[in-house]
Amino acid sequence: MRVLLVEDDDAVAESLTRGLSRYGFDVQWVRTGGEALLAEVGDVVLLDLGLPDVDGLDVCRELRARSDVPIIVISARADETDRVVGLEIGADDYVSKPFGVREVIARMRAVLRRVRPATAPAEEAPPGRLAIDRRARRVHVDGVEVALTPKEYDLLAFLAEAPGAAFTREQIMEAVWDANWFGPTKTLDVHVGALRRKLGDAVAVETVRGVGFRLVLR
Ligand code: CA
Repeated sequence: MRVLLVEDDDAVAESLTRGLSRYGFDVQWVRTGGEALLAEVGDVVLLDLGLPDVDGLDVCRELRARSDVPIIVISARADETDRVVGLEIGADDYVSKPFGVREVIARMRAVLRRVRPATAPAEEAPPGRLAIDRRARRVHVDGVEVALTPKEYDLLAFLAEAPGAAFTREQIMEAVWDANWFGPTKTLDVHVGALRRKLGDAVAVETVRGVGFRLVLR
């Protein structure tokens, strides 16, 4: 999923970019309203209101006039927020500083869930929330692409061949990593952790105690 982040505070932007990347988001960061209006808006916009060149509210209005991309406003002042999400300005939601990356992701997913069903053509809507295009090795959750590493993709594709079925750690290691894997399987746990982060609540990679893992679709 591509995120346009408009934020002039380097510390906030860098930590948000790092956090969102960790969860599989592809972040494009700009520091000014002028740059924001020239940038590709992507799938969702995170917009700080206090920008150095122009008022963030004007940027929001202008983006809304051009497209129906979901816009989440980052606000430093609670009293701004009522106006911002009103019809006039056109933002879809807001987060107040200070905020955590998980809160931002939760807002983005909620906004996208509201927006996507109305805008996505019916024939493209996947039957479940998770869609795996094995030919293209691409993964979508709620119609939005999730960036996975090659091994994360392989692991997900393997588990998704039989949703609900428990696979042993050995089966998974053999299938996804190497046919003759005798070493520790900690790398498997690392990749399971990454999938859980990136896929959110669309799927559950459940631990089967003493055995391995199973994938449960939501
Ligand atoms: Ca600012």
